[in-house]
Amino acid sequence: MDQNMNEKIGQLLEWYTDVYGKLIYVSQMNLPTDESQSKIEAEELTPLQQFKKQIEHCPNCPLHKSRTNFVFGVGNEKADIMFVGEAPGKYEDLQGEPFVGRAGKLLNQMLSHIHLKRSDVYIANILKCRPPNNRDPLPEEVEECIPYLHRQIELIKPKIIVALGRIAAQNLLNTKDSLSKLKSTIWSYRGVPLIITYHPAAILRNQGLLDVALQDFRGIAKYYRSL
Ligand code: URA
Repeated sequence: MDQNMNEKIGQLLEWYTDVYGKLIYVSQMNLPTDESQSKIEAEELTPLQQFKKQIEHCPNCPLHKSRTNFVFGVGNEKADIMFVGEAPGKYEDLQGEPFVGRAGKLLNQMLSHIHLKRSDVYIANILKCRPPNNRDPLPEEVEECIPYLHRQIELIKPKIIVALGRIAAQNLLNTKDSLSKLKSTIWSYRGVPLIITYHPAAILRNQGLLDVALQDFRGIAKYYRSL
């Protein structure tokens, strides 16, 4: 409190005791204790938001040291379709949201191709923290991080999971098979149908993949309508 404010309060108290005598009654207020406050906050959060709060300071792998933000996931918590990418890149790390860079803009366009917005679906990654220079996730990082994705899937209960690219597909299916081999099948991932398509960053590098990816997206929409 600054000096000026102290003086004003002092003057006010002096005036008050002049008028009312020495006793000043302060009505008792039920100010929240730290414990009750955090209980109120926990009750206001959805289960997914509570889960984010539990894990957002995760120190389980060395990537926590270089991250700017833990990139939990974004979108509709009750989404029927959940997209899973690889790991945050530079802009995702800076903004704390998956797919916000160039690849993210392309993903938005591909979603609008099937009349969906980001807010209709849920988007997350295999890793929640950015690997240095966008290198591939290491097996030990995936091992630490993938249980977080499993819990997200349990809470969101999507009807379809879409793996974006080789790294997401290989890590979800625990295989080293090539993307072209994996993407021809609809898999089951923890009981949820899993469809595999190209990573938007791969499409930016090779525009020839766009037509097939858009066809995949139309297939996802068709499959979704058939459920
Ligand atoms: N690439 C990914 O796999 N995920 C992101 O969030 C951004 C780029």
